[in-house]
Amino acid sequence: MEIIEKAALMQARALGLRRTGRRIGFVPTMGFLHEGHLSLVRIAKAASDVVVASIFVNPTQFGPNEDFESYPRDFDRDRQMCEGAGVNILFHPSVREIYAPDHSVFIEETALSKGLCGSSRPGHFRGVATVVAKLFNIVQPHLAVFGHKDAQQARVIRRLVRDLNFPVEIVVAPTVREPDGLAMSSRNARLSASERRDALCLSRALERARALYADGVRDADRIRRVLCDAIGEVRTAETDYVEIVDGETLNPVSEVNDTTLVALAVRIGRTRLIDNALLGPSS
Ligand code: AMP
Repeated sequence: MEIIEKAALMQARALGLRRTGRRIGFVPTMGFLHEGHLSLVRIAKAASDVVVASIFVNPTQFGPNEDFESYPRDFDRDRQMCEGAGVNILFHPSVREIYAPDHSVFIEETALSKGLCGSSRPGHFRGVATVVAKLFNIVQPHLAVFGHKDAQQARVIRRLVRDLNFPVEIVVAPTVREPDGLAMSSRNARLSASERRDALCLSRALERARALYADGVRDADRIRRVLCDAIGEVRTAETDYVEIVDGETLNPVSEVNDTTLVALAVRIGRTRLIDNALLGPSS
């Protein structure tokens, strides 16, 4: 596996691969990898000739009081995991390599990024859209794989690609969970043993919502009450949002159907976790 730290070198390498007809699959990450990330690598591998993964904790998507500094990092472990999963090129730039000190161009998606995490994390999706556009220009992928775990992010990126005409195919992969249901996340590493147990309220809430839907309940308020109750059972859990929205537009709905997305953000102690599920059978 090749490790590249310079943007210009990565871009030259990618352009060279494209010239020789190689199909580039790309998996952008913030590192501290887990099985969820590796599932994206496997999908990219099956659909391309060369897999590039990036590890970059992107400062512009963190608010001033968020966890940019304390975000978990372990490059050696990530490198080994990428190598084991068959990544061909690992792009690992510094912040200075990606953002010039006087960087002044940002990309803002103005509809899908307003609600959900967009309202609790102002500026978050502006940082995400900007770094993904930059990474696409540097890595020149034919295909990029993102996780449904960050469903709103996936919607914003699809819109970015459509509205700015990026020639990149976007694949959205299912959420990988721990055996007990907890969605895998780099931030899970920060949970204490008791917080780890409490964190199960997110997936439990989603399961109860899906069970109600399977029983024929279509009223969003009733499903929301069940979600809030499931989170309320855990003393340390503090709800950031519980939303029932259309999976495409991300607008709130009053009546649910197969394409409805149930999305949660909950603080367990100092750690903010998100999870979501589509109510339909595909989820
Ligand atoms: P992150 O490193 O958290 O920025 O995530 C990098 C990519 O991995 C994003 O496309 C995420 O949606 C995806 N991802 C994170 N957690 C999971 C998971 N549990 N299952 C599948 N994909 C995931």
